Amino acid sequence: MDSDEYLFLEEDDSPTDELVEEEGWKVLIVDDDEEVHRLTRLVLRDFLYQNRRLTFLSAHSGAEGEAVLRANSDVAVAFLDVVMETEDAGLRLARTIREEMGNAKIRLVLRTGQPGQAPEQEIILRYDINDYRSKTELTEARLVSTLVSSLRAYQQVDALEREWRVLAEAKEALEERVAERTRELRESEHRLRSILDASLLPILVASEGGDAVYFMNDRTGELLGLSQAEAQSQGLSAIWVDPRDGDRVLRMARERGRIPDWECRMRGAREREFWALVSAIHMTYEGKPSVFLSFNDISARKVMEEDLKRLALTDPLTGAGNRRMLLDRGGEEVRRARREGAVLTAIMVDLDHFKSVNDTLGHAAGDEILKGIASTASGLLRDVDIFARMGGEEFAVLLPSTTLSEGASVAERIRESCANKVFAGLGVDKPLTVTVSLGVASLDLADGGVEDLLIRADSALYRAKSGGRNRVEVQNSTD
Ligand code: GH3
Ligand code: MG
Ligand code: MG
Repeated sequence: MDSDEYLFLEEDDSPTDELVEEEGWKVLIVDDDEEVHRLTRLVLRDFLYQNRRLTFLSAHSGAEGEAVLRANSDVAVAFLDVVMETEDAGLRLARTIREEMGNAKIRLVLRTGQPGQAPEQEIILRYDINDYRSKTELTEARLVSTLVSSLRAYQQVDALEREWRVLAEAKEALEERVAERTRELRESEHRLRSILDASLLPILVASEGGDAVYFMNDRTGELLGLSQAEAQSQGLSAIWVDPRDGDRVLRMARERGRIPDWECRMRGAREREFWALVSAIHMTYEGKPSVFLSFNDISARKVMEEDLKRLALTDPLTGAGNRRMLLDRGGEEVRRARREGAVLTAIMVDLDHFKSVNDTLGHAAGDEILKGIASTASGLLRDVDIFARMGGEEFAVLLPSTTLSEGASVAERIRESCANKVFAGLGVDKPLTVTVSLGVASLDLADGGVEDLLIRADSALYRAKSGGRNRVEVQNSTD
């Protein structure tokens, strides 16, 4: 049942005492006329609002009213007489309540004996006075409706105040949390710096454009030969051999967030250039968009890699390239010849009766002969020509920009030089010579790749062998 409906109920229909809560709405009557106190209590004796009765407090002067209110912060409504110990004691008390006590919640109802004592509208507004009644209006109906609207307003203000308090508490908790996070962040930043300082890896933090260095550890200083002050003034511009590497690392860090492994040349201490493996992460450092760079000197590894790569493409006995090298570079030459419409010629070289040389003189002597033939043949070639030992006692030559007949001439020179080469000191009394047979072929439109070209040169070589050896054969239509 809505509480307002009680106002219009007969006395018998009033709610029973069991339903009524103990704690009543506190109502303070401030009036120097005892009769007003008595009448108000009498008239409002059975008043109920939301199942709560009224608890009356009394004061007979403005001063006493203030004392009561200071002791009872939960008074919901105060009926204030205007004229008491002074002409405006009630108004003064209203001001004290709002301004000095800071009580915005309590509802104030002014009551005067004389209609002429009505306060100015400005005062009503300033002290948030809820109602103004002359004492002649002390009838039950008037008082009840005044009280109901006052209690309703009190509840609204109370709810607002409570909400405000919850919000204020939440705000305070939030601020506390933010402060805590800021503290934690500062601590973790501090920890991070200690770790970076102690890191064995050169590390630096620079502005995202690379023009300022915010942090760098000792290792960086040692490797780059830079002091903190120099790095701060120069930024990163001086550390790259090719500035495009720096631009690329910074741009990729900005655009992708990170760049895991970038190999490039860097400039180190004492003008030394070195190979570096660089990684970069885009981050915020002391509130600024930054790039975290770490780099390692990988020069030793690079040298090893280069050595390995070279070894993997070299024949260990003769020092010439091996089959893999010839096929790799041969592939490139074929593509280039196609692109440029150029000619490309191949020669296959095979030692004659080498098995018997080996059998009579031994394997070691055979090795010396292989080395001699390799150096004789390669000594006749241009820098752009490609020479390789294809395996056993078989060699191949690729001659870029060389026609078939020009290639045949080269082959003839090789044949002649080899045949004329005299091997001495191989454990035999008389000087020894060996011959080679050669097959020559040029790149055809029909060739799929360098292998096809070599197969045709090999066919020509086969004919040179069967034709008597120590001779050059050029590809023909049967090859
Ligand atoms: P042909 O004139 O028909 O080419 O006869 P050949 O004896 O040269 O050919 P064959 O293929 O029968 O024999 C090749 C020989 O080359 C067999 C092997 O003893 C020798 N040989 C292959 N690789 C090496 C090497 O690395 N060192 C030495 N010493 N001999 C090798
Ligand atoms: Mg042979
Ligand atoms: Mg052979």
